[in-house]
Amino acid sequence: MTGSGEERAIESALAQVAGKIAAAAGRVGRDPAAVRLLAVTKYVERARIAAAVAAGQLLFGENRVQEAEEKVGAFDDGLTWHMIGGLQKNKVKKAVALFDAIQSVDSKALAEQIDRRAGEAGRIMPVFLQVKEADEATKGGVSPGDAPGLIEEVCRMPNLRLQGLMTIPPWGEAEEARPYFAGLRRYRDSWDGTYCPPGTLGELSMGMTGDFEVAVEEGATIVRVGSAIFGGRPRA
Ligand SMILES: *Cc1c(COP(=O)(O)O)cnc(C)c1O
Repeated sequence: MTGSGEERAIESALAQVAGKIAAAAGRVGRDPAAVRLLAVTKYVERARIAAAVAAGQLLFGENRVQEAEEKVGAFDDGLTWHMIGGLQKNKVKKAVALFDAIQSVDSKALAEQIDRRAGEAGRIMPVFLQVKEADEATKGGVSPGDAPGLIEEVCRMPNLRLQGLMTIPPWGEAEEARPYFAGLRRYRDSWDGTYCPPGTLGELSMGMTGDFEVAVEEGATIVRVGSAIFGGRPRA
């Protein structure tokens, strides 16, 4: 159901999130403009994405290739779409065609596949490494121990451009996520310039609806927010 009421609700939710980002940045003396809001559109139908676009939102994220296929092409090229979910190798070709960046690179095999498909498509693919700080069997991500080696590999691949790190902390309260956000920033500070040229790992993608303010306080440059903008969704 879409009506102007719902459009206004999305517009006001976006403004509220932006205000909270600015306030969190202000608390730690950061420039709010250094934090980008990525609107997560999984389970969100096109009309409601269009309402966000009408309100000025241009950066979006999807966690499944198939769902993205139904949405990305429906909007004009002015939007930027990031892949933020686990990526199967047989979907890499489509992902490279659809997305402007892939945030979920967590293995050499996947990076090689993206590099190859990007080369075939004649493009350079911006990528992030997804880092898994806690030992959670069911979650994607490279361990902090294996990340330096993977950073070196990815930086050698001709059709990838490494931009930063992404993390999804274990489920919990916002304050429980803080050590993971601070940890990702510390890893970035020590890896950048050591395993890749300085400045490579500029982006820290961290923070979701429940904890994005904490993530901003800890240095996020991209927060990935879904339900605070579009409301609840069916359980994945
Ligand atoms: C769904 C999702 C989000 C957004 O979650 P919300 O809690 O709705 O803000 C962020 N990042 C990833 C990887 C997701 O899959």
